[in-house]
Amino acid sequence: MKALVYRGLNTIKLEDKPKPEIQDPTDAIVKIKYTTICGSDLHILAGHVPTCKEGTTIGHEGMGTIDSIGDGVKSFKVGDKALISAISACSTCSNCKRGMLSHCDKAGWILGHTIDGTQAEYVRIRLADSSLHKVPDGIDEKAIVMLSDIVPTGYEVGVLAGQVKPGSTVAVVGVGPVGLGATLTAKLLSPSLLIAIDKDPARLEAAKKMGATHAIDSSKEDPEKIVKELTGGLGCDCVIEAVGVPATFELCQNLIAFGGTIANIGVHGAPAKLALDKLWGYNIAITMGFVNTTSTETLTRMFQAGTLKLDDMITHEYNLQKEGEQAYATFGAAAKHKALKMIINTEA
Ligand SMILES: [Zn+2]
Ligand SMILES: [Zn+2]
Repeated sequence: MKALVYRGLNTIKLEDKPKPEIQDPTDAIVKIKYTTICGSDLHILAGHVPTCKEGTTIGHEGMGTIDSIGDGVKSFKVGDKALISAISACSTCSNCKRGMLSHCDKAGWILGHTIDGTQAEYVRIRLADSSLHKVPDGIDEKAIVMLSDIVPTGYEVGVLAGQVKPGSTVAVVGVGPVGLGATLTAKLLSPSLLIAIDKDPARLEAAKKMGATHAIDSSKEDPEKIVKELTGGLGCDCVIEAVGVPATFELCQNLIAFGGTIANIGVHGAPAKLALDKLWGYNIAITMGFVNTTSTETLTRMFQAGTLKLDDMITHEYNLQKEGEQAYATFGAAAKHKALKMIINTEA
């Protein structure tokens, strides 16, 4: 089978690999129909994820059909359609029982990281019962891939951790795919203000389409000044960081209202300043962490009901076998190509 394989710094290769086989009774082999590339995959290529070894098939998002199962898999049978969760989990260890699936003793973020991932024709899913979700009939099978990772991440780590409520004033700093996932799902909770901040006009346009009430181009405008104007000088109840560099985390601290929550989603590679001398008396909270994917089933129901619209997130489609490497080239230059998420199909 064909697979997109990490081959060291900035190198991704489309290679032939053996089809994966069942190794443990709780495994399932999924024949991938649609997968996608994530910002985390680019972090791997950039060498920021040393736990991912050369030769690993990349990818932790996708959907497909169950090709085979181990004897211990109870909730899926061969032929079922399944959505793959970015987080694999056992559901029985102490961390899983506390809802911390991302810190599962036996798994967590392993796919396309410490074991072969989804950017291939087939993938082995460990702990399949609790790492896969049923795909309802008649659903858009490309759009549902947005629920493998980016939308649950925006919702759980941004919106829910950020305590967004009806009437909240919300700012999302960085509206790439995960920031857009936060924008889409914040909108479901009826905020009174939903302000998107980014330097990329195409992303700001997408954020407005997905429900942002205001868009601030931080390459041309001063976000702090505009947020203060829009909130009558208060700042925002919830500020979501979805970039992962010191400057944007520091900006969040200048946008937060008394009593608010800064919800950091960004994956940071360097320390950032925390203005404790200013913020100690603000009665605020700062949250951060990995997605646990405990919201996936809820979000799937909302998608099925039509209250959550996901297809605007997809801007490009490529074929794995013919254009897998091209997909990376486009996603790597996302601003130039106005790329948000790209579907990679495996149609022969
Ligand atoms: Zn991802
Ligand atoms: Zn566990």
